[in-house]
Amino acid sequence: MPSEAAGGLLVVVSAPSATGKTTVVEHLVQVLPGLRMSRSYTSRPARPGEEDGLDYNFISREAFEAMIADEAFLEWADVFGHYYGTGRAETLSRLDAGEDLVLVIDVQGARQVRERLPETVAVFMLPPSFEVLEQRLRKRSKDLEAEMLRRLETARREVDAVSAYDYVVVNDLLERCVGELAGIVVAERAKLARRRSTITPIIQTFRNS
Ligand code: 5GP
Repeated sequence: MPSEAAGGLLVVVSAPSATGKTTVVEHLVQVLPGLRMSRSYTSRPARPGEEDGLDYNFISREAFEAMIADEAFLEWADVFGHYYGTGRAETLSRLDAGEDLVLVIDVQGARQVRERLPETVAVFMLPPSFEVLEQRLRKRSKDLEAEMLRRLETARREVDAVSAYDYVVVNDLLERCVGELAGIVVAERAKLARRRSTITPIIQTFRNS
């Protein structure tokens, strides 16, 4: 059952690069009806196999900066030298319409979202260890050594942000991690404040009989 009452549920998921967060969240939205993934804007060039309007909205740095000036982002950040951001209007209107949304964004963006929308449910995903992260980054091998070292250094800083999150999951096994994340979303949807419009008529039947 999707959440209701004061709009949809907003979930943010952050994790160091190569933790596998996108794969986990792609599986999550398949197993949980009513939960959708938000599509970010980025000034990073598309990688082979990536599609504009599907993986990201790929735009120029100039277009991104114009959107910053127009306050068109709910949050944005410079990650590894490229801009990334979440569109404000589309996100807020989807939430207003009662849609449950998941944003896969970095720790800087997650901080901004929590400040602006304090009801946000923030989940941090950890790899099983630093060594496993390093192996996964090496396996990707599309990144240069210097870029890989930069991502590992960033990862060291990012894990320091973990205490600002509501939940933590470890991506050791895909299915297990997806299941845990799904459990978090299901529990958040069942919170009393989100169930008011469902429970009010039920409680009413107790009063009427
Ligand atoms: P990648 O270039 O590998 O797709 O993403 C690099 C980093 O940017 C990842 O940590 C990813 O979560 C983050 N990212 C993707 N979209 C957004 C966004 O809209 N906002 C922010 N703040 N970070 C994002």
